[in-house]
Amino acid sequence: MQFIDLAAQQRRIRAGLERRIHQVLDHGQYILGPEIRELEAKLACYAGVKHCLTCASGTDALLMPLMALGVGPGDAVFVPTFTFVATAEVVALCGACPVFVDIEKDTFNISSESLSRAYEVLASGASGLRPRGIIPVDLFGQPADYSAINDFAAKHDLFVLEDAAQGFGAEYQGRKSCSLASIGATSFFPAKPLGCYGDGGAIFLDDDQVLEKLLSIRVHGQGEDKYDNVRLGINGRMDTLQAAVVLEKLEIFDEEIALRNRAAERYSEMLENLVEVPRCREGRRSVWAQYSVLSDKRSLLQDALKKEGIPTAVYYSKPLHKQKAYLKYVRESGFGESLPVSEAVAREVFSLPMHPYLEIKDQEKIASVIRGVIELNR
Ligand SMILES: *Cc1c(COP(=O)(O)O)cnc(C)c1O
Repeated sequence: MQFIDLAAQQRRIRAGLERRIHQVLDHGQYILGPEIRELEAKLACYAGVKHCLTCASGTDALLMPLMALGVGPGDAVFVPTFTFVATAEVVALCGACPVFVDIEKDTFNISSESLSRAYEVLASGASGLRPRGIIPVDLFGQPADYSAINDFAAKHDLFVLEDAAQGFGAEYQGRKSCSLASIGATSFFPAKPLGCYGDGGAIFLDDDQVLEKLLSIRVHGQGEDKYDNVRLGINGRMDTLQAAVVLEKLEIFDEEIALRNRAAERYSEMLENLVEVPRCREGRRSVWAQYSVLSDKRSLLQDALKKEGIPTAVYYSKPLHKQKAYLKYVRESGFGESLPVSEAVAREVFSLPMHPYLEIKDQEKIASVIRGVIELNR
């Protein structure tokens, strides 16, 4: 059994993928070729925003907007502590201070209550840092609570950058992820819900002026051309070949999201009374990048599943405020020494196989192994 079955997906679309890849081999525009423009137009339309700019990774999709907004030394940016490291890393790479915030146990997303406590501590001025923005994460595929977050941000003059690396295609109150804040970022890392065959990412926004800056930052801070450098930039471009792969996968993406949701519903019915199952809040649709459950018998369950050839994974065993590289930011900000919900979740969380081609009989087998362990250890 596969944790994420990319081979099953490839069997479905192999012919189309080959056609798309051969087109790139024929025209030879490997950098910023026509597939890049085609993909950017389709993704902007899909997300319901004015502009989409593809880039080299999900990490660059977070880093480049921070550079465009001028985030730097003396600035504080609020991030959930329970996320992949890239969310905080980009803040630190800009020279600013990531401020770690706790999460809600049932959605795994940033807690508004913890956010407002973190803001109060920063606004008191003790750290000397200036609160600049928030990076909520659509963790495991479910959007965070953007109406609360955007209201809070507007009140305190903060930017909001949506980290939808795991949530492309998700919905919140009828709107698509990557359109839920003033700037959205996603990743096409192969294991994400919409992945390519290497690294890739995209940025989404309506603002024309920020777009101009991002276009320049993507090519080394170019002005008139790439040998005229008007600001600091990076090589942040996505390969044309990767765009060709995403274009082909986009054709079946909505159907795959529906299949993921069906698989998640089946899991929740089968596992409801055995472990804590994830909840999708009213008005939101997850894309189930991961199906993650909580149990105080995690290691027993993982061992029993492994014996049956069923892979599982722990996202994330150590929240960022406990990671060696980030301890200094906890001290600098004066907030987030102890974030109890994230710490408890990190001890109990684990993820089960999840992909659109997961079969009912495999889910039944997973549920029966879990039931066996729980009943034996009641
Ligand atoms: C994967 C991921 C990223 C980074 O994306 P890459 O394409 O791997 O650089 C950022 N944030 C979150 C929450 C992620 O899961």
